[in-house]
Amino acid sequence: DLTGRTALVTGAASGIGRACALRLAAAGAHVRLVDVDGAALTGFGVGEPLETDLTDLDAAEAVGRGADVVVNNAGVQTVAPVQDFPVDRFSLMLRLMLEAPFRVVRGALPHMYEHGWGRVVNISSVHGLRASPYKSAYVAAKHGLEGLSKVIALEGAEHGVTSNCVNPGYVRTPLVEHQITEQARAHGVSEEQVVDEVLLARSPVKRLVEPEEVAELVVYLCAREASFINGASLPVDGAWTAS
Ligand code: NAD
Repeated sequence: DLTGRTALVTGAASGIGRACALRLAAAGAHVRLVDVDGAALTGFGVGEPLETDLTDLDAAEAVGRGADVVVNNAGVQTVAPVQDFPVDRFSLMLRLMLEAPFRVVRGALPHMYEHGWGRVVNISSVHGLRASPYKSAYVAAKHGLEGLSKVIALEGAEHGVTSNCVNPGYVRTPLVEHQITEQARAHGVSEEQVVDEVLLARSPVKRLVEPEEVAELVVYLCAREASFINGASLPVDGAWTAS
């Protein structure tokens, strides 16, 4: 029960972040909805919308202040070989997906330490644990997030603060639907073929993950019963990383 807790979700307007925000609200939390897409945050029905571009790192740190739960979720994808990867895009992705989580947590920890309780959940990816070609910035950012999460876990342990990563395979969200459309066009194949032969090629369970399945684990990690799960990375990947 998260009644009385303030839970901050970044990238709350869409996909996994949206599912997490709704699930945390259902668990009783006051939810702070942070997203660059302010329009998409309206009409949520729950929580407090905060239109924020997290690549503004001072703004990222400011939104973290006073939060009991932080879900670092906002992310973007770009697919290109290393030698062609747009350099500004690489920097932006590292800023949004690694530096902003650092700054949000930096803003939140004093309050968590003061109250002797806190939860940091980092939405990493299978790509925090495994690489794929053409995703240099994404894989680098997620591997970095894994390291950051473990350090927060070590420092937070004596203060009742846990930090964990959740590592989904392909989740049915706009981010992935966009990739499916693009790859189908690029390779001249159907969208079904992209899902079955490209996205799910390494997933023994042949379906996409639903955002609600990820949100269920996130809310579990925030429970009292999960206080001994710390510094962990938990795949929700249909056994992809088992092979
Ligand atoms: P999504 O595109 O549906 O939602 C991402 C949200 O982040 C959007 O609402 C977007 O507006 C917001 N955002 C983007 N840039 C921002 C910025 N500068 N400041 C604030 N908000 C910003 O994506 P999703 O699929 O739900 O992915 C969410 C997270 O889950 C990402 O970190 C992603 O890497 C991770 N993930 C996704 C999948 C997947 O298959 N979809 C798999 C593993 C991990």
